[in-house]
Amino acid sequence: MIFSFPIYASQSIEKSFAVEPFNTRYLQEVDGIALHPNQALKGVRSKGIRSESDILNFGLGAPPVWVHFAVSNVSESEQLRYIQIENSWLDHIHLYVFKGGKLLQSNKAGDAIPYEENRTNRFFSFPHKFQPGETSVLIRVETPEPQLLPLFVLTENDMLERKINSGYEYGIIYGFLTALLIYNVLLYFSLQSRRYIFYSLYLATFIILNLAYTGHAFKWIWPNWPEFQNQMIPPMMMLFAYLGNLFCRAFLALPTKFPRINTSFNLLNTFMLCSVIWYALSGNYLTMLVTAFICVIPFALLMITAGVVACHAGVKEAKYFLGAAIFAMISAIVTAFTVSGVVEYHPFGFHAVEYGILIEAVLFALALAYQFRISQTEKIEAQRLADRDQLTGLYNRRGFQKVIEPIYSNATRNNRNICVMLMDIDRFKEINDTHGHSFGDLVLLDLSGLLMRELRAGDIVARWGGEEFILVLPETQHDEAVTLAERLIGVISNQVVQQQQLDVQYTVSIGIAEMSDPMDSMSNLIDKADHYLYKAKASGRNRVAYKVEPTRELVSEI
Ligand code: GH3
Ligand code: MG
Ligand code: MG
Repeated sequence: MIFSFPIYASQSIEKSFAVEPFNTRYLQEVDGIALHPNQALKGVRSKGIRSESDILNFGLGAPPVWVHFAVSNVSESEQLRYIQIENSWLDHIHLYVFKGGKLLQSNKAGDAIPYEENRTNRFFSFPHKFQPGETSVLIRVETPEPQLLPLFVLTENDMLERKINSGYEYGIIYGFLTALLIYNVLLYFSLQSRRYIFYSLYLATFIILNLAYTGHAFKWIWPNWPEFQNQMIPPMMMLFAYLGNLFCRAFLALPTKFPRINTSFNLLNTFMLCSVIWYALSGNYLTMLVTAFICVIPFALLMITAGVVACHAGVKEAKYFLGAAIFAMISAIVTAFTVSGVVEYHPFGFHAVEYGILIEAVLFALALAYQFRISQTEKIEAQRLADRDQLTGLYNRRGFQKVIEPIYSNATRNNRNICVMLMDIDRFKEINDTHGHSFGDLVLLDLSGLLMRELRAGDIVARWGGEEFILVLPETQHDEAVTLAERLIGVISNQVVQQQQLDVQYTVSIGIAEMSDPMDSMSNLIDKADHYLYKAKASGRNRVAYKVEPTRELVSEI
């Protein structure tokens, strides 16, 4: 029995050529016995199974199938239509068009033969001029890949429009992914962090895989390599999972932070590697393909688990990773299930992995940027800490050298005065010995707080050693420095440091040096200040020592 479409009016001619589900019947070959088209035509009409959907999916490794539908042209003239199967991986397609039992047209196609020999479109598209009345279309499909057959009968305009729309769609997808890919490769070269290159390779593999299974690559890149086209997808799926894992490993530092997940990933990788080697040796394509589809599930689960565990462990950037993994993995599973016929075909299901990867790419890019920001902040903080004294927060020697250099060269260039003071707490050892080391620390904190309060904005103060501080006073005359030092001596000697019921006082000694000659280096100046500090100590402590005239030194009496 032939199922045909009624045509009610001329403007609905377009509609009349649509393949409605109830018009389609199919018959699968049994026991590997190939049918003759006439036998198949009879068979499918008498015992063919009626399909509820115009998109048939017989899954992975299904036997060859014959699909039949009828088309009715109620107009007076011939109508050109394209019988289109919107899938590009089918190996062997034979198309037969019958009218009144007579074979009008037969075509062979499939990606088991070089591209140019059978098509001008990445899908399989067969033009036929339908004569008025009823026409039978019979198609045989043989392929080990998912036998997914989205069937359409289209006008030339519809066919071109679908082609253009899909061109835009993939233009956006590939454009977006390629831009991200290039960006991450550049980041790798400038930042030298492996995670960027793993991520770039992961994206590149997805692009190649997608180009391959959508038929774009067979059209543009390897049209004369049908064997490659028909063998590369399962190892490529595994490479994609493998690179995803390498990226995850580098991004979340799996080996050190989450060794158990890392071990699970390693097991999956080893299994995939063994499968690929076994495939190379045995050439058993179907088993390899099924294995690759199955591997998508543990891969997706491991990526999501890694994200969840890392989030739980408080890894800040893991939330982006988890979001990305959830989108990409769920969408990869949806597409894998749709393509392999586990769930019913829907265009969204078929394309889900493409949308999922786009969202994933954006989130991963954010995650990488976020991680970069964290590492920059940590670096800056580490640098800042390296320049600071832990106890007082003042510059340490290293920090002092850094800040003093431009101040010093500015002063020598512009012939400006600089004074240097070295200050040392008197008998600090006794304070430590009497009240304890931690009380000694309190005294150091007290003094550093006081110095920061008392000094002007442009002055530099640093912890020079244990209980020794250095002060650099730019744009300061010698007598101004002496006045300041004497004031400091006074203020400090009145300071009281408290601990429990105990009030402790302390004093300091100060040596001052002035840059008398522009050739005086900073270390010269410090040596001179040290010399006067020694003088101050030797003369009884709690005082300031400095040079008065070229020949005279003075130690102030307090
Ligand atoms: P002087 O008046 O001659 O400078 O005598 P002093 O006891 O202050 O000098 P000395 O160099 O003999 O002793 C300095 C002490 O400072 C010894 C050391 O244990 C102590 N010290 C160094 N760094 C710290 C610190 O960070 N905290 C504490 N509590 N003590 C420190
Ligand atoms: Mg001391
Ligand atoms: Mg000392």
